[in-house]
Amino acid sequence: KKQGKDQHAVFEPVMRESFQRHLEMEADLRRAVLRHEFQLRFQPIVRLRTGEISGLEALVRWQHPERGMIPPLDFIPLAEETGMIVPIGEWVLREACRQAASWNAQRGDEQPLSVSVNLSAVQLDRADLPDVVRSALTESGLPPHCLVIELTESLIVDHRPETLRRLQAIKALGVRLAIDDFGTGYSSLAYLRRFPVDIIKIDKSFVDDVGDVPAAAALTHGIIQLGQALQLSTVAEGIEDAGQLSELADGNCELGQGYYFAEPLTSDAMHALLFPGDVAT
Ligand code: C2E
Ligand code: MG
Ligand code: MG
Ligand code: MG
Repeated sequence: KKQGKDQHAVFEPVMRESFQRHLEMEADLRRAVLRHEFQLRFQPIVRLRTGEISGLEALVRWQHPERGMIPPLDFIPLAEETGMIVPIGEWVLREACRQAASWNAQRGDEQPLSVSVNLSAVQLDRADLPDVVRSALTESGLPPHCLVIELTESLIVDHRPETLRRLQAIKALGVRLAIDDFGTGYSSLAYLRRFPVDIIKIDKSFVDDVGDVPAAAALTHGIIQLGQALQLSTVAEGIEDAGQLSELADGNCELGQGYYFAEPLTSDAMHALLFPGDVAT
């Protein structure tokens, strides 16, 4: 009993501290929404055969006044837990559509860029999601086929019946759906028949080893062929070197993104990449 008490004395302050931090983070997050402390980065998605930019993935960042730039994995879970992901996610969607529409207008006759936005399961729990998507498109003037909504496998596998209906309503707008981090979730492929998916994003963990681990190469090529058989586009995530690129391009992977091409860029840096010689707006 004495030992138990000692242990208690050791753990309690640690727990209290982490609970305290959690509460502070939550308060900070609420303030961040009111004060617009979020920013987007844009990572190019490249056509592997030609190297041309076909689209962009919008990735959120939190510019915290004291703690600096916070990456999404450090605040999205809390934002989901507290429901704050709903206003944050809506802002991401509107801002991504606005920015893509503006770049497309400036590109003129060139093939329009698509923009990909990550969606949390919590956002799909809301009945108004299709309306939110529709109004982001209407407000920005972005054509629906230029918007891609990225979902994870777990979101789709653990779905409720309403989820499928909401995704179908979003699809009916003309928006495309992508499965993010493909291959890392539940190994059930059955959902590919039930869900109106357009794009498979091959997880970085496969791409990392595609050049030197035979099993990773075999799985990657298998996923690409699965995509082709189902008439889905395939995007390889996290391409970091020329060897990975040539392995994927030779294997007929259509698209890719990764530090080899560009890191997620500020909108000014993205603008400079899209319009060399132009002054940022
Ligand atoms: P994700 O959607 O799979 O995004 C790809 C992540 O891989 C991004 O991390 C990107 O910066 C990183 N990445 C891209 N290329 C490379 C590479 O070559 N090497 C390496 N090491 N990493 C690369 P980021 O921006 O930190 O985002 C992490 C995750 O946070 C995203 O994974 C996504 O699940 C989530 N996320 C980001 N923005 C949002 C958002 O607006 N809403 C929601 N719900 N989730 C978001
Ligand atoms: Mg993504
Ligand atoms: Mg991913
Ligand atoms: Mg990921």
